Amino acid sequence: MPRFRCLPIATAIAERFRRTGADDRGNAVRTMQTDKGPCRHCLHDAAPDEPLLLGFYDLPAPRGLYWALSPIFVHAHACPAFDLADTVAPIIRGRLVSVRSYDAEGMCLYDLGAVCDGDDVEGPLLRALDDDRARTVNIHTAKPGCLLCRVERI
Ligand SMILES: [Zn+2]
Repeated sequence: MPRFRCLPIATAIAERFRRTGADDRGNAVRTMQTDKGPCRHCLHDAAPDEPLLLGFYDLPAPRGLYWALSPIFVHAHACPAFDLADTVAPIIRGRLVSVRSYDAEGMCLYDLGAVCDGDDVEGPLLRALDDDRARTVNIHTAKPGCLLCRVERI
């Protein structure tokens, strides 16, 4: 079974959202309070009283034709970066997710794609990580399509 790590966005990016109020497109981030907003830095859902920042994130991978910007939430106040091996990030649980895999050229590997309940993600996630063609594996929300986290082999 492949070992893996769910990757948060870089701490420097989360801190820039908070410090400058600008997202990866230079737009002003929006401060929101929402029920169960998934923070892409600590990879936990925010409590209803925890404000979140909403802005565009420039995905580092894949590049090329399947590159995308994604709206993301980040806690408005400092939070620890998620750092657990072989653990499905809490923001994946309890929502419908899409597992997306890309090859070394950043092309989508459709046969490894899956939409499932986040509580059942281990099957499609480990299948993707076990496939030598997959160089990038990202997990998105299945309905709005926003990035939840990248996943790397360790
Ligand atoms: Zn957070």
